[in-house]
Amino acid sequence: MPKPELEPEQLESLRIALETRRDELEKLLKSGADAAEPVTLDQQSVGRVSRIDAIQQQQMARASQQQATQTLQQVQLALRRIADGEYGYCLHCGDPIAYARLSVQPFATLCLDCQEASETR
Ligand SMILES: [Zn+2]
Repeated sequence: MPKPELEPEQLESLRIALETRRDELEKLLKSGADAAEPVTLDQQSVGRVSRIDAIQQQQMARASQQQATQTLQQVQLALRRIADGEYGYCLHCGDPIAYARLSVQPFATLCLDCQEASETR
């Protein structure tokens, strides 16, 4: 049986890491909202190539925004689980998630075994 609970200072450092991540993502999404606006270009001054560029950039901005939104949801879920005292346990098997894993990915919701099982399935 692995050590069941995180040390308070471990939990605290993970909480800070999550809050930092959340703030970064919220800022990113706020600034990204402008980049994802429909492309409006001055027809006179820009050629066809830069128009395609602009559309590609917009698509990239949208994709990275979707990614950021997903990560933000995971981060918020992790913070909620900290508040509820459920943080650090695998959603699938209920085993504690190793601190080594959480320190790399503080919003992990599965232990390594379940994560690997879900990826190889
Ligand atoms: Zn598990």
